[in-house]
Amino acid sequence: MYTRRYRRARRRREQRAFLQRILVGVSVICILIVCAAVTLKTKKETQRVEARSALMQASAVMQKAQMVQEPNKEAGSKQQEKQIEESQKAERSGDETEEVIIIDPGHGGMDGGCVFDDILEKDINRMIAAQVVVKLRKLGYQAELAREGDEYIDKMERVESANAKNALLYVSIHQNSCEDQSVEGIETWYDGSDQTRDSGRLAQLIQQATVQETGAKGRELVSEEELCVISKSRMPSCLIETGFLSNRKERGKLATKEYREQIADGIVKGIVLYLTSDGDFCEEGTERI
Ligand SMILES: [Zn+2]
Repeated sequence: MYTRRYRRARRRREQRAFLQRILVGVSVICILIVCAAVTLKTKKETQRVEARSALMQASAVMQKAQMVQEPNKEAGSKQQEKQIEESQKAERSGDETEEVIIIDPGHGGMDGGCVFDDILEKDINRMIAAQVVVKLRKLGYQAELAREGDEYIDKMERVESANAKNALLYVSIHQNSCEDQSVEGIETWYDGSDQTRDSGRLAQLIQQATVQETGAKGRELVSEEELCVISKSRMPSCLIETGFLSNRKERGKLATKEYREQIADGIVKGIVLYLTSDGDFCEEGTERI
C-alpha cells in the first residue's frame, strides 16, 4: 500500500518535473524568438538610419556640386555671349574695312557644270575653292565661299552678296570643256572694260602663279564684259578655268587631291601677290587679250 502510494507520488513528481522541463524549454524558445525578433528589428532600424544618413550625405554633395557648377555655367554663358559679340564685331569691322575675299565655286546643286566620266565640274570647283579659303585663312586673310555646300545659288545672287559685303576681291573657279579633247590648260577671264577695278592685274597674277605651280599649259587671259560674276561685281574680280574636263589627262589630274592642292596654291599665290605688290608677277608668258 505504502509502496503503491509512494510510486504514485513519485510518478506525479516525475510528471510535474517533465511538465516543468517542457515549460522551461518552451519559455527558452519563446525568449530566443523574441530576442531574434528584437535583434532583427534593431538591425533593420540601423540599416534604415544608415541609408537615410547616406542619402542626406549624397544630397549635400549634389547641392555642393550644383553650387560649384552654377557660377561655371554662368561664366560659360557669359563667355559665349562675349564670343558672339566679338564675332559680330569682327563681321561688322570686316564690312567696314572691306577685307573679305570671296572665293566662288562655280555652279552647284542642280547645275553641275560640265561632266565627263562621272566627274562633275561643280565638285572639282568646290574642292579647289575650299582649299583656297583654308590657305588664305592660314595666311591671316578673311576669306569666304560664295556657296558652302552643294547648293544652287544664282550667279547674280552671289555677286550681289559680295557687293553687299564690300568684298576685297572676287575669284570664281571653273573647269573648261572643248569638243576637241586634246585641248588643255588654264585660262582666266576678267572684265577689261572697267579699268577702275584693276581686274586685269588680278587675273594675270592668278593665271601666272597657277600655271607655275601646276606646270599646266598657260592659255589665254581673256577680257570679257558679258560674264556676270566678273562684270557685275564692284571689286577686282576674275574667273579662272583651272583645266579641261574634256581632256582625259587633265581630267585625271584634276581628280587627284594633290593636283587640286597645287591649283589652290597657285590661286592663293596670285591673290597674295596682287595684294602685296603693285606690279605684274612676270612680264613674259601671258598677255592680256
Ligand atoms: Zn563652269
